[in-house]
Amino acid sequence: MGVVAEKVLDEAAIMAVLETVPDPEIPVLTITDLGIVRGFEHDPPRVLISPTYTGCPATVAIETSIREALDAAGFEEVHIQRVLFPPWTTEWITERGRARLHAYGIAPPSSSATAQCPLCGSEETVEVSRFGSTPCKAQWRCTACLEPFERFKCH
Ligand SMILES: [Zn+2]
Repeated sequence: MGVVAEKVLDEAAIMAVLETVPDPEIPVLTITDLGIVRGFEHDPPRVLISPTYTGCPATVAIETSIREALDAAGFEEVHIQRVLFPPWTTEWITERGRARLHAYGIAPPSSSATAQCPLCGSEETVEVSRFGSTPCKAQWRCTACLEPFERFKCH
């Protein structure tokens, strides 16, 4: 018919690619676990992502990782679009993501004033510093086992 067949983009395959992209700061988490993948739009083809923390240097690294993963999987025509509203919050971290954070020794975010120690499970913990190894995490210490740990900040 003379019409060039348009390549039909497989949304599930694209989502499966995103599922393999690790978070640059916490490699046990994928960007899907973090909840920053908002979805896929067909026209024009693009994946929608929400940056985690404004000014967080990880955002650029995450976009680079997504670009590389999409290109490697043959989805060069798929763009990456940042969606700023509604803003990402730690609430969007999936259950699997929370379990992985805990297993990695980082207390998952919660609205509670105390954090559960990821090492011994004690609730007897204190915040040592608002600033951990990255702007996204705070430094905590468990008063039961005396181990320091990091907690994802809520916001
Ligand atoms: Zn402890």
